[in-house]
Amino acid sequence: MNRPTANGRGRTRQGGEPWIMKETGKRLKTSRQRELVLELLRRSDDHPTAELLFLRARERMPSISRGTVYRNLKILKKAGRIRELVIGTGVVRYDCDMREHYHITCERCGRIDNLPHVIPRISCGDIAACTGYQVYSHRLTVSGLCPVCFQQTCRGHGEEDGAAGDDHDIPEKRL
Ligand SMILES: [Zn+2]
Ligand SMILES: [Zn+2]
Repeated sequence: MNRPTANGRGRTRQGGEPWIMKETGKRLKTSRQRELVLELLRRSDDHPTAELLFLRARERMPSISRGTVYRNLKILKKAGRIRELVIGTGVVRYDCDMREHYHITCERCGRIDNLPHVIPRISCGDIAACTGYQVYSHRLTVSGLCPVCFQQTCRGHGEEDGAAGDDHDIPEKRL
């Protein structure tokens, strides 16, 4: 295991918000690794998996381990900073936008995007009015094929995987 020594002395970085664990109310010390994971998540628009985040984190911090990324994702979730999404392909993906919003997911590669805000939200009050339920929350997920996967399907190439950017080796276009 990769034990921090030089920077693992419990000092809290100045200016950082305190990390409070939701369930216990315990205050957590900040860590460079955790801040990196959160920053990468904020910059991602595809709601990445833990593995994708690990690969992105390693580009920035080569010494970071898979276990550290996974552990910090759990901590961030418990602290209420991020949430897990399990939609579409059933793989856990992560979202740091804690506001209520709708998602659209690709059935092939599993990426998840936010639905643009031009699509109006259904009001919980309207649902309550026509169902008689006390409505606390709702979610809407639209599924389909993302532009990359759709392109691959058009080319007759989408069976293997949905890796973005894999558009080499294109035979003649066929309908
Ligand atoms: Zn896709
Ligand atoms: Zn989202």
